Amino acid sequence: MTHTLTLQKIEPVTHNVNHLVFNRPDGYDFVPGQATDFALDKDGWRDEQRPFTFTNLPDSDTLEFTIKSYPSHNGVTEQIAKLTAGDTVLIEDAWGAIEDKGPGTFIAGGAGITPFIAILRAREKREGTLEGCQLIFSNATEKDIILRGEWEKMPGLKTVFTVTEEDAPGLPKRKIDADFLEETVADWDGVFYVCGPDKMVEDIEQILKDKGVPEDRIVVEAA
Ligand SMILES: Cc1cc2nc3c(=O)[nH]c(=O)nc-3n(C[C@H](O)[C@H](O)[C@H](O)COP(=O)(O)OP(=O)(O)OC[C@H]3O[C@@H](n4cnc5c(N)ncnc54)[C@H](O)[C@@H]3O)c2cc1C
Repeated sequence: MTHTLTLQKIEPVTHNVNHLVFNRPDGYDFVPGQATDFALDKDGWRDEQRPFTFTNLPDSDTLEFTIKSYPSHNGVTEQIAKLTAGDTVLIEDAWGAIEDKGPGTFIAGGAGITPFIAILRAREKREGTLEGCQLIFSNATEKDIILRGEWEKMPGLKTVFTVTEEDAPGLPKRKIDADFLEETVADWDGVFYVCGPDKMVEDIEQILKDKGVPEDRIVVEAA
């Protein structure tokens, strides 16, 4: 079913990521980690649906997204950065592959952090701690790291940040490969959540399988 949402607020999170807050239609439900098909409510754009993940908690009276814009695609995300309060967008019902299956290692690349935003916030709210959880978050450059301060402050959450395209003080310049995971994963017995570009997700899933992590402890989604 299609729902029309009205933008209440848009604010920057990083140089190319915005936080968008919309009204929540009565009865609209989602669980942390789920996404929806999202389109601009403008002539020429209504059929251009793109998936985005809810990043607020399911008990709030808004629907919120954290969206990275790619102006070079000349697509929907370029337009999203130009939305202003009062603009409307169209979304479908919630769907998605990533949900909280227990404490573990969350491995994200770029906007692949988005399903983990609601999952980690909900876990903090429910349990009071992220004990047993680790976030390994890879980005091109330091300024691309979404919500770094929030992850560093979350009680009990171990964090590892890495960049791939610049030298940044205090951050390893490394891709997440088998050696890097061997050095950084704190607990191989928990659940592994992986979300990021297709190739990254594919490669990391294979590394985890090669390490003997059973499929039922690997939760993946390409972003
Ligand atoms: C389940 C799921 C949940 C997601 N959740 C989020 C989220 O919460 N937040 C978020 O920021 N992102 C999220 N994403 C990613 C997001 O959907 C894409 O970034 C978005 O669809 C890009 O839309 P676009 O129209 O701007 O560009 P695209 O649809 O990628 O591209 C439009 C056109 O640009 C061209 N193009 C494509 N790639 C390139 C390139 N690299 N260089 C130049 N031109 C190119 C192609 O011709 C393409 O047809 C999610 C993805 C999935 C699968």
